[in-house]
Amino acid sequence: MGEQAEVIVIGAGIGGLTAAALLQERGIQTVIFEKNGFPGGSCASFTRNGYTFDAGASVFYGFSEDGRSGTLNLHTRIFRRLGIEVETVPDPVQIHYHLPNGFNVAASYDRRMFLDALAERFPDEKDGIEQFYRELEDVFDILSSLPAGSLEDIAHLTSVGGRYPLKTVMLSLKTFRSMGRTARKYIRDEELLHFIDIESYSWALQDAVSTPLVNAGICLADRHHGGINYPLGGSGSIPAALVRGFEKFGGTVRYREEVTGIVVENGEARGVRLSSGEVVFARAVITNATVWDTFNRMVSDSRYRVPEERFLRAPSWFQMFLGVDGRVIPPGFNVHHVLIEDWKTYDTLGGTIYFSAPTILDPSLAPPGKHVVHAFVTSETTQWDGYARGSDTYRQAKERYADSIIARTEKILPGLAGAVELKVLATPQTHERYLNRWKGSYGALLKPGQNILQKPQNMTRVKNLFATGDSTFPGQGVIAVTYSGVSCASLVARKMGTPLDYL
Ligand SMILES: Cc1cc2nc3c(=O)[nH]c(=O)nc-3n(C[C@H](O)[C@H](O)[C@H](O)COP(=O)(O)OP(=O)(O)OC[C@H]3O[C@@H](n4cnc5c(N)ncnc54)[C@H](O)[C@@H]3O)c2cc1C
Repeated sequence: MGEQAEVIVIGAGIGGLTAAALLQERGIQTVIFEKNGFPGGSCASFTRNGYTFDAGASVFYGFSEDGRSGTLNLHTRIFRRLGIEVETVPDPVQIHYHLPNGFNVAASYDRRMFLDALAERFPDEKDGIEQFYRELEDVFDILSSLPAGSLEDIAHLTSVGGRYPLKTVMLSLKTFRSMGRTARKYIRDEELLHFIDIESYSWALQDAVSTPLVNAGICLADRHHGGINYPLGGSGSIPAALVRGFEKFGGTVRYREEVTGIVVENGEARGVRLSSGEVVFARAVITNATVWDTFNRMVSDSRYRVPEERFLRAPSWFQMFLGVDGRVIPPGFNVHHVLIEDWKTYDTLGGTIYFSAPTILDPSLAPPGKHVVHAFVTSETTQWDGYARGSDTYRQAKERYADSIIARTEKILPGLAGAVELKVLATPQTHERYLNRWKGSYGALLKPGQNILQKPQNMTRVKNLFATGDSTFPGQGVIAVTYSGVSCASLVARKMGTPLDYL
């Protein structure tokens, strides 16, 4: 059977869409199969009763024109390349942290304001704070000046190494360093070290020692340069724009088409099998699914299995999507909050509450006078296994758990319980079902001691099967996954003899 596309992409998450759009823009005929009827995966939006909710991500990097952020302005650069636009509004605070012992600090766009607020709480650590966050700026300055590309693309590495020899060496050395160990070089105070842990846990779901310095150098530095910007219309505006760009160049997204198998012959990916039974062939296949879903579900040959324990499997989420009376949100309230009541339990299931109210930036997401609130905690499928889907007992268990989280959240938003007018609740099972993610996991994390280069890259052990998305380097988060899409596309395009120009 002949090939029906040059490249097949499994999944229209941000990783798959980015890779597909950049390949299609180069004239490489690409088709995406997406099991849902909409694009975006964990970055999709959905609407209920006039409220538009972000299904997952709400804190966005990569949208600025800021010269210092350079190549890290990835969304801006990709959208310009594709000739599409997403309007954004700047968010003055990345996260407002509410921590034990009345420790309360906002990670403001204004770097000086943030560092001074920390120094006010920890006057004896003033110099250590400056030095630690300076290290992150140094990593950021290197990364923002290097063009994005694949670490498996020898031509790219040679070109970057030749043009920026010193920065390449410095970056290579920094890839072996951890954020937490770097912090401990400068900082002694236990409470401040807890704070450094939560600065990584809030997006990496790991403490600072387990988090590579290089990842921290993007998230904790660029918030003060390119900043955090919210896409008008909600998170789904990003995948919608990528689809527009992809289709404009002739790409096809086939929605409600689930890939059930990857056709592998003699160690080489040849195409995919759909749930309808149809088999579609291509020169290359890119998977946007997790490493476990790809190799333990879609590739049937057991020689390619990836044991769950090869990486740390991040937990999943219990999520509450609330429509609330707008009067509950006081003037000046920040959009994103992280609430921790006890340092001993912050990293246990449900220990940390994440909270976003994006209507503060984009009121069009709710009816007049109302707000949307997205609050969530870590959770596991095992906590909900005992309930039959659709049963009253399942609904009641979700309601009880949601009420307990709302009651805890009242600490930062008094009156929340009485202001809720719409409640949509999602368990890890929901996450697993919607996105085909193994146990609804947030993704594969590196084990302590593993180096960021041990994260799966875009090539896999199956010839012509490539990977993008949060299982691959650099990891979770929309900007990270976008990077993986860029590096995947540049690798595939080079192999097809049509290299991408740098963004
Ligand atoms: C609650 C929550 C909050 C978050 N908050 C933030 C945040 O504030 N900022 C941030 O940057 N990041 C955040 N993230 C992380 C971020 O959303 C993800 O890392 C990122 O969107 C993952 O993108 P992806 O392309 O790797 O995968 P996914 O979003 O999982 O997309 C994969 C796509 O592939 C499809 N698919 C899978 N298998 C198949 C198949 N067999 N056939 C067809 N289609 C298939 C799925 O339906 C899905 O559309 C959050 C995530 C969650 C869950």
